[in-house]
Amino acid sequence: MSNTKYVFVTGGVTSSLGKGIIAASLAKLLQQRGFSVTIQKLDPYINIDPGTLNPYEHGECYVTDDGAETDLDLGHYERFLNIPTSQSNNVTTGKIYQSVINKERKGEFLGKTVQVIPHITDEIKRRIQILGETGDYDIVITEIGGTVGDIESLPYVESVRQMLWEKGSENAIVIHLTLVPYLAAAGELKTKPTQHSVKMLMQSGVSPDILVCRTEHEISDEIKRKLALFCNVKKEDVIQSIDAETIYDVPNLMLEQGLDSVVLKKLKLCSKGEPELKVWNNFLQKHKNPKHEVEIALIGKYIELQDSYKSITEAFIHAGSSNETKVKVRWVHSENLNTDNVEAQLKDVNGILVAPGFGDRGIDGKIKSVQYARENNIPFFGICLGMQMAVIEYAKNVLDLKDAFSTEMKKDCKNPVINLMESQKDVTEKGGTMRLGAWDCELTENYKAYKAYKSKNISERHRHRYEFNNKYLQQIELKGMKATGINPKTGLVEVVEIPAHPWFVGVQYHPEYKSTVLNPHPLFVDFIKAALEQSKN
Ligand code: GLN
Repeated sequence: MSNTKYVFVTGGVTSSLGKGIIAASLAKLLQQRGFSVTIQKLDPYINIDPGTLNPYEHGECYVTDDGAETDLDLGHYERFLNIPTSQSNNVTTGKIYQSVINKERKGEFLGKTVQVIPHITDEIKRRIQILGETGDYDIVITEIGGTVGDIESLPYVESVRQMLWEKGSENAIVIHLTLVPYLAAAGELKTKPTQHSVKMLMQSGVSPDILVCRTEHEISDEIKRKLALFCNVKKEDVIQSIDAETIYDVPNLMLEQGLDSVVLKKLKLCSKGEPELKVWNNFLQKHKNPKHEVEIALIGKYIELQDSYKSITEAFIHAGSSNETKVKVRWVHSENLNTDNVEAQLKDVNGILVAPGFGDRGIDGKIKSVQYARENNIPFFGICLGMQMAVIEYAKNVLDLKDAFSTEMKKDCKNPVINLMESQKDVTEKGGTMRLGAWDCELTENYKAYKAYKSKNISERHRHRYEFNNKYLQQIELKGMKATGINPKTGLVEVVEIPAHPWFVGVQYHPEYKSTVLNPHPLFVDFIKAALEQSKN
């Protein structure tokens, strides 16, 4: 039996209140008090994972070292805690049902009728406790996706109820995040939505231990007392979560409100002192007081929903702080880019990043923007599809292979400089079948990537089916684009560079997933540095 304690975070009133940030901020404070903490997200949808979801539906799909395609909140957990998450940190209703149905088919229920209670709830509880049972964590924080009262959340709330009963109040608690809206016409903050949402939670047999209230205005003592009285908690257990300038302020705001102290008190845990936030605050200080500014064009096809590029924009913040530079993002829709307007859309930027993506929508715009960056000596960073477009552009315009393309967009193209990976040729199912997770890469000394990482051997996360076609490697290298990062086992090209350009790097992997507050990603740091130099020209 492990001694792990469990903290559940539920949400009420509305979605998008920032449960993930509250969970990550609490985890950060507990971690900096010396506890080992991890965070898990339970998503009530029926997809097995968000890998098959269109980014417009759910934002970015985040990938872990062990190759799980997960909710973007896991990105926040890693960026705040600086420790990797894994397959076990994201569970969906699809995964739960899949396990239960597989067991049923194997006859493991011995003739019993398989039901939501107890079989689905048992499987949910098992998944929650997997992380605790590793013995690696003092505290597991489990965020329940969705809003209390949703039909699909019910089995999760019931599982939480059972776990509270089984573990006892010193070992498992519930934080309920709600909204306290401000009615401008009345000039008042309103507590009723919170009262209703707590009532809804209580109808499922769960009383919150702590209320965290999102608000645009300070919540007075009187309102806290009112919330406490009607929601059955102590006044000190009502925590205000006021809108913040940046998500990275939230740990400090929660510290001021005493969220971590209240949690420790309820779990009967003692900490030696206050959370150690020196490095964190140093990052914040530089982030908020930049000495310089650069503008980076982010070229993508999902830019209407900026959450589709969450890890990239957060990596800019980390790299910006480390360069004491504000990184302004110019969102450029690749579908709207063409020969006639590329100059107008991209002129004056200090760097161009071509984003990851799938399919052929907006592909010509991406190629045009690579060409513009290459020909005008603007720092260029291509990620995954962005790297593939850099190779295609080079083959077309420098090697003069006019029909060079990727077989993803043009199946029968004559010069497939980007080709389906050998290992993908027999793959027919869509879900979880890409080349996923962390793979080793060996960098060639003295090129930009090597200099940025300051290391020859790196490991980065992947999510793709297509790759650089090595048949063209020699021709491409002869003309000046170099493969400067190679997978040592398979020979797959992971990094390309143009050494004659001030900063031109394309990577087949996703460096953005590994950028954290404590460890800004070296390629992003170097890219922003190059953009800063460009801005001085
Ligand atoms: N669509 C490309 C591939 O599958 C790139 C994927 C990506 O950008 N993540 O290889």
